[in-house]
Amino acid sequence: MGRPERVRPSWKNTIPVLIDQNTIRTAEQQIDSCEACEPDKAEIPFDYVLDCITGSDPELTDYILEQPARCPRCSGEVLTGYWRWYDSETEGRKAFVLPGTLVTLKAG
Ligand SMILES: [Zn+2]
Repeated sequence: MGRPERVRPSWKNTIPVLIDQNTIRTAEQQIDSCEACEPDKAEIPFDYVLDCITGSDPELTDYILEQPARCPRCSGEVLTGYWRWYDSETEGRKAFVLPGTLVTLKAG
């Protein structure tokens, strides 16, 4: 199982969404572990957690964290993914995708 591929069907402008400390804390409370401490189990992108909390459309949203989010188990930094379009002279328009940190969520 690799990281899930994000397919972007067409050009879209993303909307920056600032994630404040309270929202970061809420997200951290839902995390049980991350890919650093549970590499075999972590499979949910951190962005997904933020999508659920904020109700934002992941296709259109760039999350900007007010401060770093951390895994409650190993204190490792948990990052959101981001993507950008860029124009390649040889290949045309392409998406550059940096996946977010994968996490596991607490049961219930
Ligand atoms: Zn961790």
